Amino acid sequence: MSVNCLFCRIVKREVPASLVYEDEEVLAFNDISPQAPVHVLVVPKRHMATLNDLTPAEDHLVGRLIRQAAAIAAERGISAGGYRMVLNCNADAGQTVFHIHLHLLGGRPMHWPPG
Ligand code: AMP
Ligand code: ZN
Repeated sequence: MSVNCLFCRIVKREVPASLVYEDEEVLAFNDISPQAPVHVLVVPKRHMATLNDLTPAEDHLVGRLIRQAAAIAAERGISAGGYRMVLNCNADAGQTVFHIHLHLLGGRPMHWPPG
């Protein structure tokens, strides 16, 4: 855990969030500033700042993040229509919270390429 990390503080329940899912390794909550009708953040409970910190030891965890996001998409009824998963890394991608998080976005048509 990182004491000054917002998402670590959400994991520890020091900061409130609209929780969607929790298990021993993963937490999911609604984004505070949703960019689509469904906008859920899926995070590892353990602090890792960016995708650059991943090692082969996290391969299983990364799979869990993706599969949990897909399960949430199914629960929200957007699987067939489609959805997007986004992982931003560092400044050029616009990462603002330095605790790895997967954005699940859906419920509206989206454009490509992203901005
Ligand atoms: P990123 O730009 O990929 O780092 O995304 C960070 C995301 O965290 C943004 O979509 C924010 O709206 C979201 N966010 C920031 N603070 C909170 C919060 N307290 N609860 C839920 N989502 C948040
Ligand atoms: Zn953290």
